[in-house]
Amino acid sequence: MKLHWQILVAIGLGIKRNWHIFLALIGGIIVGLIFPFQYGDPAPLHNLLNFIGQAFIRLIQMIVVPLVISAIIVGIASLGDSKQLGKIGMKMVGYYALITVIAVTIGIALALTFTPGKGIKPKIDAQQSSLVQEKVEIIKQNTSNLSSLALNMIPGNPIGENNHSEKKMETTMVQILIAVIIFGAAFASIGEVNRPVVSFFESVFAATMKVTDWIMVLAMPGIFCLTAYSVAQAGLETIKELWLYASVILLGLALQFFVTYPLIIKIFSKVKFTSLYQAITEAMMVAFGTASSSATLPVTIACCERRAGISNKICSFVLPLGATMNMDATALFQSVAVIFIAQAYDISLTPLMIVLIGLLAIIASSASAGIPSAGLITMALILQGSLELSIEEVGQAYVLIFAVDRVLDMFRTMINVTSDTVVAAIIASNEGELDFELLENNEVWKEVV
Ligand code: ASP
Repeated sequence: MKLHWQILVAIGLGIKRNWHIFLALIGGIIVGLIFPFQYGDPAPLHNLLNFIGQAFIRLIQMIVVPLVISAIIVGIASLGDSKQLGKIGMKMVGYYALITVIAVTIGIALALTFTPGKGIKPKIDAQQSSLVQEKVEIIKQNTSNLSSLALNMIPGNPIGENNHSEKKMETTMVQILIAVIIFGAAFASIGEVNRPVVSFFESVFAATMKVTDWIMVLAMPGIFCLTAYSVAQAGLETIKELWLYASVILLGLALQFFVTYPLIIKIFSKVKFTSLYQAITEAMMVAFGTASSSATLPVTIACCERRAGISNKICSFVLPLGATMNMDATALFQSVAVIFIAQAYDISLTPLMIVLIGLLAIIASSASAGIPSAGLITMALILQGSLELSIEEVGQAYVLIFAVDRVLDMFRTMINVTSDTVVAAIIASNEGELDFELLENNEVWKEVV
């Protein structure tokens, strides 16, 4: 058989499914670069790509709410008494907070060192720029003490007025989470009488995981189309213009991925980070393709349970909460983006303002839903809270950020998902809820995607 036939047969039969997804990603990037948007507008090909990609995302989103509800109820009920629940809950919040604080610190340090916003200063209208500067000067005088810093921390309107659908989505998700946690805790505390309800949610959970398996048959075309569309939309020209801004964010994310997580894993657990990363490869790739932590959640849970050996008890509690609230990569991106905007408008930042940007990035990121571009929208809260600027006032710089955001969103979602699994693995390892034999033995790993 000729070599090219052998290769084709190998791709069709031999290669494991995760390679299909990898090929879909690479293929998507290539197609996106070859067929970019013309003059900022999509062609029929792009509309088709978008249609298939969105259909895939919608299918996954269909199972997110039943999955989150059943996973958390089963998770909390199996944690049993409220003491253990409290302990694991506190640990989870602690690790998520630690990881996010490190992310923000890295973001701020890199943005101040490489000053990515300086380069686009000439692109900003001079008159607009001086208006913005004047406004910020007045705010500087008002935010020079700690009490106003504390006041600024209380978000008046967390999501900003410019996107109601995002606000609605986030509010409902948070409301669902709170209600489910309260009911989960109640079921856990009533003892054996909870059996019928818990068994019911156990079946719902198992069924949603089954549906995930079915939907994942479409993962390859879905991810190919989503990636191709995003790359075509961003276009090489815009990426070139903003290369320093994009590089600073990617460098920060790489530091989180290659330095922070391995260090934290090493300090707090006995897990080998290389084994964990290998176990969750599919989740990373699906996160990259969909740019949505929530949509990736079913795959994240599957990878953690079927490969990383993390018990269902820990997975079903830590991962759904992580997918909605732990957004360290988003916080990193937001702090870089806000400092980028300040630099573009030649605003000099006081140390207090920088601290405020960091603190608000932590809040805004956890208020971001696990859906594409959520971080870009909640960034309004940081701009408003720290510099008292609206998106309209810094429109020119915001448009530039917007243009490349989808591609950066893919990277940060991958990191957001990775950090959820890192925290789940650490907690599982400490609680004796991790099957090290399974994690270290990839021969017996089951298919996930
Ligand atoms: N897309 C991201 C996620 O789902 C959130 C964001 O940064 O926009 O994790």
